[in-house]
Amino acid sequence: MRVVLVGPPGAGKGTQAQFIASHLSIPKISTGDIFRANVSGGTELGKLAKGFMDRGDLVPDEVTIAMVRDRLAENDAQEGFLLDGFPRNVAQAEVLKKMLADFGIGLDLVLELVVDDDEVVRRLAGRRTCRSCGKVWHVDFDPPKVDGICDACGGELFQRDDDREETIRHRLEVYQEQTAPLISFYADEGILRGVDATGPVEEVTQRAMSELRRFAD
Ligand code: ADP
Ligand code: ADP
Repeated sequence: MRVVLVGPPGAGKGTQAQFIASHLSIPKISTGDIFRANVSGGTELGKLAKGFMDRGDLVPDEVTIAMVRDRLAENDAQEGFLLDGFPRNVAQAEVLKKMLADFGIGLDLVLELVVDDDEVVRRLAGRRTCRSCGKVWHVDFDPPKVDGICDACGGELFQRDDDREETIRHRLEVYQEQTAPLISFYADEGILRGVDATGPVEEVTQRAMSELRRFAD
């Protein structure tokens, strides 16, 4: 299946993407993760992206699209993929559509994770990310057994630079202005499904999976 997850920063896209991708045996492709790996690796791409990310702005489309094009060309993405964080504006969505159409394929479903602003702020303010494996935790909602240490790999947890209060506010504005229009874009294509993203992580995964199963039947 070819699936896209959309939703505001903090909705739980990364958290859900890992479970859904593993249920469907397809790779999870998270543009935020790829950018962050480039920033910590000190690559040219990382140097270019860092300023935009720290401010909470979108990295320019040409850079992002080239990166996604390369990733989608890899072997593991040929039978399907789950995109997390891409597309993030209508221009990216149009290019993705064209990119897939050139291969005679298209997206199957776009899942919108629906959660209100107050919950998003609570989730982002307590988010901690593992420096080694990238797994996401929350200080209150999903705490690791030992404070500051990733249960999965023993790596050090850190708070993302863009999860500071002021940047969070700006990212939510960017979402409303640039990313939210994707909702009607994909609704018009008939492939949008809303998923209530409140409540325990496993329940949200179940809701997402039932939309995906309904499509597959
Ligand atoms: P979140 O999980 O909080 O929504 P991400 O990890 O997806 O955030 O993205 C972090 C940052 O990486 C974004 O604020 C943006 O600067 C950059 N980024 C990620 N995906 C894209 C994209 N598709 N287009 C432009 N910039 C992106
Ligand atoms: P996104 O990728 O959409 O920015 P994340 O998956 O990184 O969102 O989740 C943001 C924060 O919210 C993380 O700290 C994560 O542990 C927490 N979180 C995710 N899903 C839930 C949930 N259903 N209930 C409570 N907290 C959650």
